[in-house]
Amino acid sequence: MSELVCAFCLSTLEIPQTVIRCSGCTVRVYCSEDCRNNDFGLVPASEKRRLEAAAGQAHGHWCALYAIQDSKHGIGSEGRDWEVAQINPHVGLGIVALQPIGRGMRVAVDSLQRRFDSYTAHLTAPLHPLHASLREKLRTNAVGCADSTLSHSDPHSDDSQLAYALAPRLSRANHDCNPNAGRCHDPYTDTLVMYARRDIQQGEEIRIDYMPWTSAMFEAQISPHARRQELMDHWGITCSSDCYCYQRNVQQVVTEAAQLDKHILFLSASIPQSFSQRMTFLAAIDEMLDLIRDHCPPVSQADYLWNGFCIAIMDKANVPRGVEYLRKLEAVKAAIFHPSDRELLHFQSLLRDPSIHEDYLLYEVDRSG
Ligand SMILES: [Zn+2]
Ligand SMILES: [Zn+2]
Ligand SMILES: [Zn+2]
Repeated sequence: MSELVCAFCLSTLEIPQTVIRCSGCTVRVYCSEDCRNNDFGLVPASEKRRLEAAAGQAHGHWCALYAIQDSKHGIGSEGRDWEVAQINPHVGLGIVALQPIGRGMRVAVDSLQRRFDSYTAHLTAPLHPLHASLREKLRTNAVGCADSTLSHSDPHSDDSQLAYALAPRLSRANHDCNPNAGRCHDPYTDTLVMYARRDIQQGEEIRIDYMPWTSAMFEAQISPHARRQELMDHWGITCSSDCYCYQRNVQQVVTEAAQLDKHILFLSASIPQSFSQRMTFLAAIDEMLDLIRDHCPPVSQADYLWNGFCIAIMDKANVPRGVEYLRKLEAVKAAIFHPSDRELLHFQSLLRDPSIHEDYLLYEVDRSG
């Protein structure tokens, strides 16, 4: 097992006796009381500049969750559940599971750094390519935060540093076209959450897809070939001919999904006016959900589930169907997002009472009026 690091400043904890343990979850460790307080967001203004150079994980928001979840599955704690470790000389560093992690569980939460200067040099210095410029390092390691799924947002398209965010720990995750984990931006805590896409064994490397198949990818009509080209151009990744992404069924799913997305977009260009149009729309949503279920990250279903809900609740006959879409959507988000996330809370109140949605029974109301 590798050395312990402070969960806030990432410094190595060399003398175990001096380790400060979070009293809430009793899992997370710090080098000092200062670092613990900072990770909880208890920061005096005078400390702010030093703080920005560190890499907290907004632990004040997550601590109570870890305490609950650790008792069952043991997730999200660096040094106990996962660690950054040397994979092999070719791959370099990666993230390795220290405990079995169940499908759908959060694996880790990381901060997002958006400022890069001499104060944060210690965060960027160890990143690959080792002797490259800061821009080159960010191009390789940063994630875009424009949308909440971090799907196809492109940190390479904008030269401004604001377009970049760096998750100092999770940027160590290596790529896999058929990965055991995914990542998602949690807007409430502004952290990057890594979650398991399937059961992960102890000692297994945790990998993510740098270009996962999401609704944004389908909408942009990205072909499997274009995706591989981008993996090559931006990360130097070459897929061998036996890679998952070359499998015939995967290529077929992606091609069909892109067509279906175009069809759904066309159908939703205006609110489907007749009941039969709305049924056609819902059928297309169902077809899409069925198609991408096994090949795409669960978050890629979110847009389709939401659209399905919004259309279904317009007709009394389809309300149960709409609630079923929303129930699935809530489950996808609840597995990743912080429980206090505004969008998640909104889904939950809609589940309790779908009639608070402005389009609820839109057509029934029109008819009676
Ligand atoms: Zn520290
Ligand atoms: Zn804690
Ligand atoms: Zn591949």
